[in-house]
Amino acid sequence: MKLKDKVCIVTGAASGIGKQIALTYAREGGKVVIADINLQAAQAVVDEIQKAGGQAMAVTMDVTSESEVNAAVDKVVKAWGGVDVLVSNAGVQIVHPVEEFPFAEWKKMLAIHLDGAFLTTKACVPHMKASGRGGSIIYMGSVHSKEASVLKSAYVTAKHGLIGLCKTVSKEGGKHGIRANVICPGFVRTPLVDKQIPEQAKELGISEADVIAKVMLKETVDGEFTTVQDVAEVALLFAGFESNALTGQSLVVSHGWFMQ
Ligand code: NAD
Repeated sequence: MKLKDKVCIVTGAASGIGKQIALTYAREGGKVVIADINLQAAQAVVDEIQKAGGQAMAVTMDVTSESEVNAAVDKVVKAWGGVDVLVSNAGVQIVHPVEEFPFAEWKKMLAIHLDGAFLTTKACVPHMKASGRGGSIIYMGSVHSKEASVLKSAYVTAKHGLIGLCKTVSKEGGKHGIRANVICPGFVRTPLVDKQIPEQAKELGISEADVIAKVMLKETVDGEFTTVQDVAEVALLFAGFESNALTGQSLVVSHGWFMQ
């Protein structure tokens, strides 16, 4: 068991990629915190983990709210004594051409992806230092942390920003054993992507099948979506890699869409 009794907070873990990371960490012995804005869905993931014999708790957390983030992390530390792994994963997608992007929606995107990553990091780092064990902080980036696509100015900006945060946290955290990494998935079939398919078809004036084949998967080596398990295995690698050797690095998981 690679994460035996490690306390692992995963934001946005009620659905999609975050949920699969939570299930994988629980399978590896982690004590997993399902932190999500949707408490009911988070509780359903807890029930699933507990039914399989794992350890999990749900906390309500809107990652854009400093008070909610701090209250949730305090609750975890009171219950389980510390934090060993943070996966900052909560995210949404909003697409518009840049000149039509409503400013309020731009700010919402940056708040969820960047403020959320900052606030959860800020809340967890003191506990990782206090334990003397350090910890692992993993940001859910995207191929869009490295590459751009039309209609996604806010998302691409936010996902590129996570690389800078990761590198800085790595440098500040190094002497305390606090590591930081970014995972950069290609398209993964989750509710976030399912919502984009008809939206992009409309914006680009093409069929939904063409959005999948000619936009989302065109550059992959096999025409396949990246899977939630592909991403979860990389999240397990980073969380369980207990040296500074990989800190500050980002890893693209995209079936060859983007190669560094
Ligand atoms: P998803 O919609 O399945 O899950 C997102 C989760 O985040 C949901 O449970 C939702 O309730 C939660 N959430 C949304 N806003 C929140 C907030 N303010 N506070 C707390 N929780 C909030 O999406 P997903 O595809 O699993 O995406 C997860 C992450 O992976 C995102 O950061 C996304 O940008 C990234 N990502 C996804 C893909 C993909 O193709 N699906 C590719 C690359 C990166």
